[in-house]
Amino acid sequence: MRVVVLAGGVGGARFLLGVRALLDDEAARSTSGGQPQIQVIVNTGDDLTVHGLRVCPDLDTVMYTLGDGIDTDRGWGRRSESWQAKEELAAYGAEPFWFGLGDRDIATHLIRTRMLDAGYPLSEVTAALCERWHLDGSATQVQLLPMSDQRVETHVVCEIEGARRVVHFQEWWIAHHAQPPVEEFVFVGLDDSLPGPGIVEALSAADAVLLAPSNPVVSIGPILAVPGVRAALRESSARVVGLSPIVDGAVVRGMADKCLPAVGVPVTAQGVGRHYGPRKSDGILDGWLVHESDTADVPGVEVRMVPLLMRSPEATIAMAQAALDLCRG
Ligand code: GDP
Ligand code: CA
Repeated sequence: MRVVVLAGGVGGARFLLGVRALLDDEAARSTSGGQPQIQVIVNTGDDLTVHGLRVCPDLDTVMYTLGDGIDTDRGWGRRSESWQAKEELAAYGAEPFWFGLGDRDIATHLIRTRMLDAGYPLSEVTAALCERWHLDGSATQVQLLPMSDQRVETHVVCEIEGARRVVHFQEWWIAHHAQPPVEEFVFVGLDDSLPGPGIVEALSAADAVLLAPSNPVVSIGPILAVPGVRAALRESSARVVGLSPIVDGAVVRGMADKCLPAVGVPVTAQGVGRHYGPRKSDGILDGWLVHESDTADVPGVEVRMVPLLMRSPEATIAMAQAALDLCRG
């Protein structure tokens, strides 16, 4: 069983815990002995350089979560983190002050930056970092594939204190709390980017393709917009099933409710399902999972209503099961 998952940060990472546990469990029951595999195509549009360090928030969230190093309360960054380097930088008056660089976390960014500076592509750097974290399950092999080795950054055109500005997505989200109304998201570098190594092959060899309940605009959106990824996904012989990040007309966490209106999509499970659209016409979905209390009419897509709140490991495994059931038809 080869499962490809498109994922952003926190929502994607939590969902992946369920997918990995489910595949481990299936492998333990199975007599066929094949090794299940999860290949995660991770958004890199949130990546930024802070104090000279290259930071990949979504890759790190997925890596720390699957590697059991995440701060589970925050949902991002390292457990048992301290912030002395950040305080020292602030004492020097070194901007930006708003980005949360923890002391433990800094080690990851130092290694990444050093390897990138030495000429290694992000995909190889990511593989090297993941070795420490042992992302595989008891049976399931897990591989993180950055959406592209080229630098792509999500910027936000918005109005801040009366002036029209273009800021990095992280600045809009963290420093400005996603408050400035968005005129437009711009994915800088996207047009010249290529899918990361192995991504087109993964989509073509997949038995199931899942869209995690990640932000449709700034997590799944950039992945699909890397030239070639959307076409590879549409051509996959596997069924493609997505899970709604919108429950009861609201985000579970994060800022998707501020992002969706900017691209003209209603903040509803149906709105996001229609935004992705049916693979039968020019969209990407065969199946769409919405929360049990939601309804969605997405013509050309098989919609199922199931609990979609990742409140416990069991609930998350059940979501992964529902998604794979829908893939298997
Ligand atoms: P980010 O990069 O850290 O913002 O994380 P993602 O893009 O992967 O995920 C953010 C999305 O996950 C948000 O739109 C949330 O609504 C969604 N999300 C978080 N927890 C849950 C949950 O328990 N259930 C569902 N259905 N969505 C969730
Ligand atoms: Ca993110």
